[in-house]
Amino acid sequence: MQSFDLIVIGTGSAGKAVAQTVRKAGKTVAIIDKLPFGGTCSQRGCDPKKVLVGAAELVDRVAQMLGNGIKSKAVISWPDLMQFKKSFTDDIPEDTEARFAKQGITAFHGTATFLSKNTISVGDETLQANHIVIATGQRPQPLGIPGEELLTDSTGFLDLPQLPKKIVLIGGGYISMEFAHIAARAGAKVTIIHQGKRPLENFDADLVSLLVKALKAVGIKFIFNAEVTAVEGREGELTVHYEQKDKSHSVSTLMAVHGAGRVANVADLELEKASVIVDKKGVVVNKYLQSESNPAIYACGDVSSKGLPLTPLASYEGSIVAENILNGNKRTFADNPTPSAVFTVPTLASVGLTEKQARKERLSVTVTFQETSDWYTSRRIGEPFSGFKTLVDKKSGQLVGAHLLGAGSDELINLFTLAMKYGIPAKEIGETLFAYPTRASDIRSMLPV
Ligand SMILES: Cc1cc2nc3c(=O)[nH]c(=O)nc-3n(C[C@H](O)[C@H](O)[C@H](O)COP(=O)(O)OP(=O)(O)OC[C@H]3O[C@@H](n4cnc5c(N)ncnc54)[C@H](O)[C@@H]3O)c2cc1C
Repeated sequence: MQSFDLIVIGTGSAGKAVAQTVRKAGKTVAIIDKLPFGGTCSQRGCDPKKVLVGAAELVDRVAQMLGNGIKSKAVISWPDLMQFKKSFTDDIPEDTEARFAKQGITAFHGTATFLSKNTISVGDETLQANHIVIATGQRPQPLGIPGEELLTDSTGFLDLPQLPKKIVLIGGGYISMEFAHIAARAGAKVTIIHQGKRPLENFDADLVSLLVKALKAVGIKFIFNAEVTAVEGREGELTVHYEQKDKSHSVSTLMAVHGAGRVANVADLELEKASVIVDKKGVVVNKYLQSESNPAIYACGDVSSKGLPLTPLASYEGSIVAENILNGNKRTFADNPTPSAVFTVPTLASVGLTEKQARKERLSVTVTFQETSDWYTSRRIGEPFSGFKTLVDKKSGQLVGAHLLGAGSDELINLFTLAMKYGIPAKEIGETLFAYPTRASDIRSMLPV
């Protein structure tokens, strides 16, 4: 049995943040991962995805300017794009492990399983610690349908050596929407099957409806209110069965991708042996991100029940856990305004309350919504679908929500986030001088006067 002050399970953004901070304070730290070191975001999520999105954006930008000074279409070479992607991802496991070694963090490869409240087994080793941090992220939600094993997950999609010409995506969340966009711009025929009546249910309904129009305009097909019931066939020759309005339908495809939600990655951990409680959102933690049922254990990142499953939150939660382990429970999880973006073209980005949430909370808000494809910012690049919605609290004059659709929204949303975090009144945001012509220079026109 090897003993440590701290064991961290998971080498993603959350796990790394805890391990490195606690080790820096002189404690003994072990870290475990069953996959190549470095976690989801940098190897199988945000970063490789945005490399592919970059190429898809370029194809779109060129297409939008054809006839306005640009002559020929841009075409994606998928194998070359994959090579480029690999130049970002290939070195991560080795670099991460080398960094751990340099920092004096003891690394273990394998699946961690709890043996008791403070012991863990990994391979042939048994490890024990005063504190254990669960930072195991999420995995695709099991769908419980026949043929589920024939589906390609997000990791598989981001690593395809060749892109099939016909793809069905199951689910209407951000991963499906982004992959649909990438695949369509790389020349595939794409269909999204979604059980709800619209995709991206947590985003603003008016802007999502504009985004759906934009994606339809490039040939992406949507099948809404449809529940996938089975997948049949063999690799490269599949049939996806679904039910819609009590009728059975099917669609044939070369590849079907699981984009139907992710759940806490706790299946291997045998948490019952450590008395750790998990609910639908993840490992149940208090405001200090400590397990409510076993104080030796903390959980952070996607696997914890607090916050959204996003990278900036994973690192933020990791820093809270590290401080609480080192100094006793003092730092609490605060609900910061958390921006998120859907990297389609046009990009959708959002922070704060949606109109629906504001109404539900009975807030009295001024809602400003407009389509902006005739504004200079969109016309200059031939962007056919863009818009925004802002929500300003009538009493306080504070911005409580901002929703943007269009090129550059993923950057612009950060200005709105800053304003919300530091309580800058909408009037003062509108009076701020921004460089012109930039997307930020439109902000004044996005707020009530
Ligand atoms: C396709 C995709 C696109 C995304 N795009 C974005 C984006 O654009 N922006 C954004 O903010 N977020 C995005 N995310 C989410 C983001 O990747 C996560 O929020 C972030 O990676 C979470 O970090 P984490 O440290 O909590 O978990 P992870 O990075 O998932 O790390 C968990 C680690 O734990 C390991 N593990 C699990 N169980 C065990 C076990 N029993 N034993 C040992 N090791 C174990 C796993 O192998 C994994 O390496 C995306 C996710 C996906 C899948």
